[in-house]
Amino acid sequence: MRSKTKGIYAAGKDVSQLWNAMHRFNPDEQQIVAVSGEGSWFTDSAGNRYLDGVSGLWCLNLGHGRQEIIDAAAEQMKNLTYSPLTMNHPPAMKLAGKISDLLGGDYQTFFSNSGSEANETAFKIARQYHNQTGNPGKYKVISRYRGYHGSTLGALSATAQANRRVKYDPGVPGFLHVYPPYSYRSLFGGDPEASDLKAAQLVEEMINWEGGETVAAFIMEPFISGGGVIIPSIKYIQRIAEICKKYNVLLIMDEVVSGYGRTGKMFGFLHAEGVQPDIVTMAKGLTSGYLPLGATAVKSNIYSVFKEKGKDNHLRHISTYGGHPASCAVALKNIEIIERENIMERVSKLGELKLGKLHQLIECENVGEVRQIGFLLGLEMVTDKESKVPLNDISMNEIIGACKKKGLIVGRNGDTVPGYNNVIIVAPPLTSTEEDLDFLVDTLCSVIRNL
Ligand code: PLP
Repeated sequence: MRSKTKGIYAAGKDVSQLWNAMHRFNPDEQQIVAVSGEGSWFTDSAGNRYLDGVSGLWCLNLGHGRQEIIDAAAEQMKNLTYSPLTMNHPPAMKLAGKISDLLGGDYQTFFSNSGSEANETAFKIARQYHNQTGNPGKYKVISRYRGYHGSTLGALSATAQANRRVKYDPGVPGFLHVYPPYSYRSLFGGDPEASDLKAAQLVEEMINWEGGETVAAFIMEPFISGGGVIIPSIKYIQRIAEICKKYNVLLIMDEVVSGYGRTGKMFGFLHAEGVQPDIVTMAKGLTSGYLPLGATAVKSNIYSVFKEKGKDNHLRHISTYGGHPASCAVALKNIEIIERENIMERVSKLGELKLGKLHQLIECENVGEVRQIGFLLGLEMVTDKESKVPLNDISMNEIIGACKKKGLIVGRNGDTVPGYNNVIIVAPPLTSTEEDLDFLVDTLCSVIRNL
């Protein structure tokens, strides 16, 4: 039966009509019903408070309840409630200009509503671009195993996580997957950088084996997030950019998680000097989760091909709500705050000083590796350091559950690759206070030390 308190379903049994995401039905599970939030914390319908150590779904970068952002949305809705991007409106125009400046190049932006759609848009643009530049045979898209690029069928086809695809395959034709820069369990041995460069070499091999004239694009996150927080050496990213250039393969940088400060720079790829992606996709941190918005930023030399006269040379792609005026107004305010409050500097500093304390956990037998960049951190859990056998589901769930009981939400790379769903994920709001971060670190350390 449903239980109600003051018109809201109370925290309780899994019996509401809501279909939860990524959820195994369990009638006995005590589900959280989140009812209010403040900063990095939220409160459930039973009055329990939780520190949100994964920023919702890596998106609530500025935390709950920023009045300025709320006002920006309300003002925009009052002024111009809706307008499609078959025309122009000021917030979208301003935001496209701002994104181009932030990316450090000359980019043209197409807006959508989510990260998945931003990537779908990128794939269509890549295929059409090659088609209109004398290479109609270039249609394949390469991505890395463990990478996640979204839930819609095209983006899921680029998602090389077998558990996410079971019962939904076959995917869209033309999507290929390659070995990731995963030095902790490297096939190649050697130091992490050498191992990562071998992984880059496999990308070149794949392009050659497939025939460079058939490959349209390579999509990558600068730092694999949901697939288990895999942080390659910077040289890997630079090498991939060189390979893409050599074979006229468009480099699509998926900044859906890494973008807007999470790693201590406005975009993750900016850590790799000299890399300028052809296409950059973004969502989540673009609005800090206040409203939905996705964006596909495309270098102007690519965009110019879509301006050519001729039948079907324009991009035939549309999204009713993509680039909604209120979402764009929110994104502009969000970026203004990130810049004004020096969020990137804060993330670099507190990432090291506070979150970085989680590196001490490497002393524990069950912690195989601690990987971190800024406010993106993963703990790869194992049964013991020597065998590196991934910690089982029961123990992983125990860790998440014990943290939750103590008022801390942490994530896990659940349902990603078979047998390797063993990474605890920490990605708190970028505005978390020093006390919040201390609480996060102390709680997680005490849970893992008591395993
Ligand atoms: N790309 C990456 C790297 C993601 O982590 C996600 C979502 O988690 C997506 C794309 C898809 O974004 P959305 O859920 O907004 O469609």
